[in-house]
Formats: sequence, structure tokens, C-alpha cells
Amino acid sequence: MKKNIRILIIVSILGLIALSFIQAYLINNTYKLEKDVFLEETKRTISRFDDDMPIMDSIYDRMFSHLLLKISDYKLNRIDKTELLGEVPKVRDSVNELFINAYQDEFKRRGVQYPLEYQKRLKSLIILDSLKNDTLYFEFVDNKKTFLLGKSFEAHNDYAINNSQVRTDYERDYVEDGVSKVLSYNFQLVTEDYINIDGWKGIVLGRMTSVLVLSILIFSLVIGLLYYSIKSLITQKKIAEVKTDFINNITHELKTPLATLSLSTKMLKKEEVKAQQTIVESTINTIDRQTNRLQKLIDQVLNNSLGYQDIELVKEEVVISDYLNTVLDDFQLSVKNDNVNIQRNIMTDSASAILDKFYFTTGLFNILENAVKYNAGNVDIDFTADLENDLKISITDNGIGISEHNQKQLFEKFYRVGNKEVHDVKGLGLGLYYTNQIVIAHQGKITIESAEGEGAIFTITIPIHKNQ
Ligand code: ADP
Repeated sequence: MKKNIRILIIVSILGLIALSFIQAYLINNTYKLEKDVFLEETKRTISRFDDDMPIMDSIYDRMFSHLLLKISDYKLNRIDKTELLGEVPKVRDSVNELFINAYQDEFKRRGVQYPLEYQKRLKSLIILDSLKNDTLYFEFVDNKKTFLLGKSFEAHNDYAINNSQVRTDYERDYVEDGVSKVLSYNFQLVTEDYINIDGWKGIVLGRMTSVLVLSILIFSLVIGLLYYSIKSLITQKKIAEVKTDFINNITHELKTPLATLSLSTKMLKKEEVKAQQTIVESTINTIDRQTNRLQKLIDQVLNNSLGYQDIELVKEEVVISDYLNTVLDDFQLSVKNDNVNIQRNIMTDSASAILDKFYFTTGLFNILENAVKYNAGNVDIDFTADLENDLKISITDNGIGISEHNQKQLFEKFYRVGNKEVHDVKGLGLGLYYTNQIVIAHQGKITIESAEGEGAIFTITIPIHKNQ
């Protein structure tokens, strides 16, 4: 049974882990899909935004003519390649502000609601020649990004939206050594447009809110149900074990008086026994004792099973010291054992408390009886009663003690510590349960401090009404 539950728990946890992975995979896929949809939408919204913008034409023209002029300078060996490329930022700076303002206005007009940055990046710049092309710039070879226009942003945040290619023939008249000449070349410029959407993650996640919320809810529900099922399974198992233990204990407890009763009645039937008055009397006494014992056992099961809600207290005011001393006197009389020594540390004043004497005494007796029962040698009990704000009673014994692990269930119905040493002692596992219920009915609480082999301290705390 225990093994089955463990396997069930392991399988359920593995199932849950597998489910989490599938869930994570699906959410990730949805995220990617939403992201693509969002980017596609953005691309569509801003596509060819510069087509009908005369200001853009004039900006591109200005850039182009400047570059073409500088390329011709390069062709005429007036400047070198580095100087030529150095012209890109210069011409950009002269027109960029205009460009940025223009595209931002256009984006707004097209209904873009979020911050969107745009950049035109230079991919390649090549002078075409039938014999040998002259590559002035090629992004992958030069291994650096050069942006022509727009906002500067980190390359890892960007999305390419489209590219464009311009091929043009250029001619320029110039004078060399007093002779007028014509320079003509053919060149190709490739650019690519990029966008950077600030906070796109938030926008995409926002679109997924319902999916996310729903999956978190369903997931929590599954975890909750699993936790609840496993917990009830363990509780059921524990209850079943405890009940079996209880049945074994009570059967064991009932067997002895029943066997004695059956033996006694058999004896009384015998003619030779009937003739001897003294044997008859002693047998009747035995029957009486065993009947009483059976009655007591049944009462114990019936009464000690009560929960605190079922306990009807009849409270009265008692002088605490007098009351506790009487309880201890009665207990000492009942144990009839010279090996039990009780050290009393009870306050001597006349403070009083309101409690139900009958129930409270039963609770105290249960603890005191256990101190004697669960002890292998001479019993030393320290009984201390103090008044702070509440009445605090500590009962310390030098018995076999209880491990921390077993203390957790100590006040549960039918619970008995299951080690061999303790099993030799008779009991039904109801005493501490009932004591706890009585203390709760008095709005108090009971605690235990103990370690295996080192005795135990039971402390009861209940509210009182002090005598003024
Ligand atoms: P019972 O004594 O009938 O078994 P209780 O509810 O009184 O039932 O006690 C529950 C269990 O707690 C006992 O079986 C015993 O193992 C353990 N126990 C109780 N009191 C003590 C004690 N003073 N020292 C050691 N073990 C104790």
C-alpha cells in the first residue's frame, strides 16, 4: 500500500512535469506566433511610407548627389576610400533630424500607437565595372553596421522589413591639366530598412493575456487537485492504519477480561467448586472485577472519543492551589506505587480559575498516568503550576520520551507511538486526544517538549480569572 502510494505520487509528479513542459512549449509557440503576427502587422502599417512624401524625395536626393560627387572625387583619386565612407555620417547629420521627424509624423498618421524607431542601413556600395567591380563598402566583409538615415539602435533589437537597390549611371565633367574631360561610372547602392519596437515584448504578452491567465488558472487547478488527492489519499491511509491499530489494541484489551470471565463461569458450573463457599465468593469477585474492567474500557472508548464541541463544561470557580493539590493527592492514592515520586511546585496564593473540575481532572490524570505508564524505572514527576496572564501547568517526567517526529501526531485520535518498547504498554491512543479536546474546550492549549529517552514535558495553558 505504502509502495503503491509512493509510485502514484512519483508518477503524478512526473506527469505534472511533462505537462509543464508541454504547456511551456505551447505558450512559447503561441508567443512566437503572436510576435510574428505583430511584426507583420507593423510592417504592413508602415510599408512604403515614404512613397507619397515629397520631403523624403528631397532628403534622398540630397544624400545621393552628395555621395555621387564624393564617389567621383574618389574615382579621380582626390580622396581615398576611408575619406569617402567618412562622408556618410556627415551627410546623414545634415538631413537626419528632418528625416526622423518626417517618418514619425507619418507613422502617427498611419495609426502606430507604440514607440517605433526606423533606420535605413547601408548594405553595400559598389562601383560597377565590366573589368573589375570596386567594392567601396560591403556590410558582411567590413563587418560593421553603417546606418544611412534614421535612429541609431542596437542591431540585436532590430527587425529587417525590406531592402532596396539603386543602380545609376553618373557622368561628371572635369578639367585635368587644362583639358576638359568626362568622368562616367556606374554604381550600385543597396540599403535595408530596419525597425526597432520599444517594449514589443510587453505588447505581444499583452495580446496573450487571456491565454496566459487561462493556462495559469488551469495549471493551478491541476496542481491543487493533485495535491488535494494525494493529501486525502495519505490521510485515508493513515486513518486506515490508525483504525487497524485501534482494533488490534481494543481486541487485545477485551480478550483478557473475557477469558477470565469465561474461565470463572466454567468454574462456577463445577459441582466441586459450588460446594466450596470461599472459592465461589472469590470467583464472583473476579467476575465483578472483570465486568467493571470491561465497563471501564467501553466507557473510555465512548467518552474519550468526544470532540471539544461535544464536551459540555460545567465551570465553577476553584482556588487553583487547593484544587491542584487535591488532584495530585488523589492521583498518588490511585497509583499505589512507591516508585512514583511527585515534586510539587504549586503557587501558594489564593488565585482562582474558572474551570470544569471533572473534565480538567480527567485531562490531568491522563497526562500523569502516561508519565507512570511510559517509564521503565523509578518515576519522577515534576508538577509546576504558575500564574502569568494564564494558568500554566507543566508536567515533567523522566520516562522514555517521544521523538520529535512522533510528537506531531500525538494528540490525534487513536495515535500510539509504534516502537516496541511502547507497544508492551496497554492503551487505546485516546488519552492525549481527549486531554487536548478538554483543554481546547477551556480555550487553552497543550504543548509537548520531548526527545526520545529524555522524558517529556507537557504544558497546559488556560485563561483564568484572577482573584483580586
Ligand atoms: P495511550 O496511552 O492509551 O496509548 P495516549 O493518547 O495517552 O494513549 O498516548 C498516546 C501515545 O503517546 C502513547 O501510546 C505513547 O506512545 C505516547 N506517550 C504519551 N505520554 C507519554 C509520555 N509521558 N512519555 C512517553 N510517551 C508518551
